Amino acid sequence: MERTLSLIKPDGVSRGLVGEVIKRFEDAGIRVAAMKMLKMNRQQAEGFYAVHKDKPFFDSLTGFMSSGPIVAMVLEGEGVIEKNRKLMGATNYKEAEEETIRRDFATDIEKNIVHGSDSPETAEFEINYFFNRFELVI
Ligand code: UDP
Ligand code: MG
Repeated sequence: MERTLSLIKPDGVSRGLVGEVIKRFEDAGIRVAAMKMLKMNRQQAEGFYAVHKDKPFFDSLTGFMSSGPIVAMVLEGEGVIEKNRKLMGATNYKEAEEETIRRDFATDIEKNIVHGSDSPETAEFEINYFFNRFELVI
């Protein structure tokens, strides 16, 4: 069974969208296999987004991601990496398809409510970044 990491970003948490996002996952038949709320510090956000360290948006992004609490989840299901990316919509909410999370709620290319792993390799790194094996409900 495939797994992926989902984050509800600080804008999603502060705007009261946690329940709405989880409902979309559950309605799509995706299982939540682990979940926690936490606040990253700057260094932790930089480590999480290390692949983007040379991008012009890196400083702003890691500042935003460490600005408030987030909800981290491990999602499980057949093809869940791709399924979650579809539910999220394009990075830029203006290009996201209708009825996606980002199209419905994002306000900005940076403040786009959710994160989702984009491949099996990144999913493994990202799940291990937030969860140990005792925290995953079998
Ligand atoms: N981002 C940004 N400006 C950009 C591209 C991305 O602020 O031009 C932010 C945005 O929050 C995005 C995150 O950086 O979700 C990671 O970028 P990525 O290209 O990996 O998009 P994602 O995988 O989240 O769709
Ligand atoms: Mg990405």
